Amino acid sequence: MRSIACARQSASLRKVKRIMTMGSETAARARLVQAYKEVVGLGLTELSSGNISLRYGEGMLISPTGATGETINEDNVVYVGPDDRWEAGLRPSSEWELHARVYRCGADTNAVVHTHSDFCVAVACHCKPLPGFHYLVGVFGGDDVPCVPYNTFGSEALAIDVAEALKARTACLMGNHGATARGPTMEAAIKGAHRLEICCRQYIHALALGEPRRLTPTEFEDFHRRIGTSGYAK
Ligand SMILES: [Zn+2]
Repeated sequence: MRSIACARQSASLRKVKRIMTMGSETAARARLVQAYKEVVGLGLTELSSGNISLRYGEGMLISPTGATGETINEDNVVYVGPDDRWEAGLRPSSEWELHARVYRCGADTNAVVHTHSDFCVAVACHCKPLPGFHYLVGVFGGDDVPCVPYNTFGSEALAIDVAEALKARTACLMGNHGATARGPTMEAAIKGAHRLEICCRQYIHALALGEPRRLTPTEFEDFHRRIGTSGYAK
């Protein structure tokens, strides 16, 4: 784990910069709190198991460690700067590095949602990708949703693997852990996390009759061509 406290001078400089955009930071903090409650309301997060972030300025705003739908508020949301530092006295989610690395991998990512939602966890605990058993699996950018290997929560190795998997997909599963979704907006990232939970639930139901048929590469090519022009299900 890297050093938490930031240098006093750099903290004050950062504060001056952020005061200049205080209006937008206040709005962004409010949006993050509202989004966290939306994720809880959808049943994707229980207790303090999930964390979400929003790109802000050169860094990100992220839910604090141990946050729940009841305890998160605009004041305990944490700004993590481009130097991976934050103000002394605050503590971002233990998965802050995962979020930071996902933003660095894609300029089109402005929000990240990490959950331990039930059906995503159920599939992820088999450490296998969610296969292309339904055409909507294609919404995540390919013909499956990959599952990265298990690594300790909050570890650099886990952050690197998730960021790598999310270069080619908008969501991934995390072995023996959960799932992460990204999007150009918070709305899109939440929708991705929700859709992945639905897809995993339906896959588990389908398995009751045996391993379901998977779409062929040609069928996924047709699907991607169609959503590329229609924006369907995005
Ligand atoms: Zn987690």
